[in-house]
Amino acid sequence: MIYLDNNATTRVAPEVLDAMQPYLSEFFGNPSSAHGLGREMKRAIEHSREQVANLIGATETSEIVFTSCGSESDNWAIRGVLATQPNKKHIVTTQVEHEAVRNVCRLLETEGYEVTWLGVDGNGELDLNELRSALRPETALVSIMMANNETGVLFPIEEIGRIVREKSEAVFHVDGVQAVGKIPIDLKSTSVDLFALSGHKLHAPQGIGALYLRKGLSLPSFIIGGAQEQGRRAGTSAVPNIVGLGAACQFAVEDNNHDLIERLRNRLEDEILANISNARLNGSPDRSKRLPNTSNISFEYVDGQNILMHLDEAGICVSTGSACHSTTHESSPTLRAMNVPFTAAQGSIRFSLGRYNTDADIDTTLNVLPTIIEKLAAMSPYEKELAALR
Ligand code: PLP
Repeated sequence: MIYLDNNATTRVAPEVLDAMQPYLSEFFGNPSSAHGLGREMKRAIEHSREQVANLIGATETSEIVFTSCGSESDNWAIRGVLATQPNKKHIVTTQVEHEAVRNVCRLLETEGYEVTWLGVDGNGELDLNELRSALRPETALVSIMMANNETGVLFPIEEIGRIVREKSEAVFHVDGVQAVGKIPIDLKSTSVDLFALSGHKLHAPQGIGALYLRKGLSLPSFIIGGAQEQGRRAGTSAVPNIVGLGAACQFAVEDNNHDLIERLRNRLEDEILANISNARLNGSPDRSKRLPNTSNISFEYVDGQNILMHLDEAGICVSTGSACHSTTHESSPTLRAMNVPFTAAQGSIRFSLGRYNTDADIDTTLNVLPTIIEKLAAMSPYEKELAALR
């Protein structure tokens, strides 16, 4: 199998599994227990907290709270901020956020909040002047992602943070789920107040996430119960997963191979765009404005689901847009916001590489893809349009 779907989820790294193993066998205690076994569990959690804080450049380990996933972190951040400022009813976000932010904001609109949905241009980039003019005294929250899950486009979080501070008193939440482990992050040099991350995007298991809360910021607990996580998130800690997340963060710091991944991604992208006549890139052509692992490419006038199925038969895993909407047939909101025509959006494929990909994976993909596209193009009702592209 050739796995080019790392933005959907990643394989648990063997190093991460090794670190978790003792916490799935001999260290089985409850970290809230006062005995030695409980204390060992607590020590392991605090060690992981340091590893997470170190990867994202938090100032203090207490700024990290473990959650169950990126979606929980995003939901808690948004709901929590609004609960602390009941008189402010305005939110600023973008049209290209993941559902974990977008659908919460949509729901909030039905609960009396006003949401400003910032648009993007054809490259998937924001207009910061639009952000400047959206901010007002009653803006409670600005929620903007660091890296787009579908296109890999990066938003300039430092600059956005400066604008938010200059022009408002809003709290600044960043969905960092796709960025962590893929690019260097140093939150202490930004004005980010809340930052969500998720273990399964960086070779930790599924079911573990974290929320960074800048020191001094306090949110009401999202899950009510015991006093775990310093009273900020109830529920017995998932120690094996927490240990896995910590180990994955450490691994990302010590053995980052962003350059290799980027080289492979560039090769894949360059050759597809050069050799397949109906291929077009979705996202900024300036690669410094995209994650190093992601290429979202439309094969115009061809159906993306069919491409995915043929690649799957060849043992190659990719996504059409985001995995989360692979079951619906609407084109993705991100591509719609970028004004990608329907006939191109329907044929979009996201290739997202990871640390276990090799040149041989790229060779095979480049070998089989043109034949698949040719075959599907021959069946396309858009014969004339395809001929014009050749
Ligand atoms: N935010 C972004 C940008 C994502 O890509 C995802 C998952 O794909 C999430 C949030 C949700 O994370 P989780 O799957 O851990 O709930």
